[in-house]
Amino acid sequence: RLYNEVQDLKGNIRVYCRIRPFLVGQNEKASAIDYFSENGELLIANPYKQGKDGHRMFKFNKVFGPTASQAEIFSDVQPLIRSVLDGYNICIFAYGQTGSGKTYTMSGPNSTSMEDWGVNYRALNDLFETSKSRRSSYLYEVGVQMVEIYNEQMPICAILYTLTCQTLGIWSTTQPNGLAVPEASMHSVKSTSHVLQLMDIGQTNRAVGSTALNERSSRSHSILTVHVRGVDLKTGSTSRGCLHLIDLAGSERVERSEATGDRLKEAQYINKSLSALGDVIFALAQKSNHVPYRNSKLTQVLQSSLGGQAKTLMFVQINPDNESYSETISTLKFAERVS
Ligand code: ADP
Ligand code: MG
Repeated sequence: RLYNEVQDLKGNIRVYCRIRPFLVGQNEKASAIDYFSENGELLIANPYKQGKDGHRMFKFNKVFGPTASQAEIFSDVQPLIRSVLDGYNICIFAYGQTGSGKTYTMSGPNSTSMEDWGVNYRALNDLFETSKSRRSSYLYEVGVQMVEIYNEQMPICAILYTLTCQTLGIWSTTQPNGLAVPEASMHSVKSTSHVLQLMDIGQTNRAVGSTALNERSSRSHSILTVHVRGVDLKTGSTSRGCLHLIDLAGSERVERSEATGDRLKEAQYINKSLSALGDVIFALAQKSNHVPYRNSKLTQVLQSSLGGQAKTLMFVQINPDNESYSETISTLKFAERVS
């Protein structure tokens, strides 16, 4: 194994907190964050309670402050990404309320600058580059799938389903360690720009107006799965690894009184699937004999990449402002349970 760094990671589950900066027009003095440190401490101040009673400390593997760059974030993720070349399965999640920076972390803002690239594009770039430059005695093939889960009981919408699939012989529809969504087409890819192109087509294929798309994207889980198959050219032995990059639905709690009809139903599905995810990670962290994968579509499709030798990284995204205090606390409580 070239990437011993992964063995150094403590345990198979890591939780990182990322604090979004204040946005233009927000009052920076009204901050709910009292203190945070590189070694993972985060102190939250309750705006409605003065003094010691109003403070709560949380502990993570790491906390990234509002000035952390996309590159800094990625340098911490890189060893995990590279372990996919060794046949590991990896899940990287972004969790948090809508507007807390999940999409920013995973994909980046809507900009073409490479500096702004999120984990997704950097990961693909790194996989392509590393597999070419450092591993010349191996032959790697990369395939991607994009899937969106919207409302539990609805069929999974395979974003790229309608594309003509240039499936290679190696990509059987039942990947041993892949995503359990055989109806999502698998696309063989050779470069990051190729993936970007596919993602554009995927977006178009969702056939939803762009405002509606934005709205809906915060209420659905989107999964980009990268399959890597390596052949050792000397021995002929093969490895298969899988990287799942997951931008989760917004975790905000919807008041029963405010939501009705479809909106209430959506909220209930999101709630159900996020708590099912929390339960699975909690059970894995406890090394429990029973891991309740079957309680949501999300945990079902990711089952083979959660647990066992697989590694999980969760970005817990929080807003810095006082107004988000109660959502922030609820996000942090979720994180506390799984870390
Ligand atoms: P979410 O996907 O959780 O709903 P977004 O990623 O869309 O949240 O972020 C909400 C807004 O905050 C966007 O305008 C985004 O560009 C901005 N933002 C989020 N995180 C950062 C960051 N670390 N630095 C600068 N802007 C950010
Ligand atoms: Mg988003």
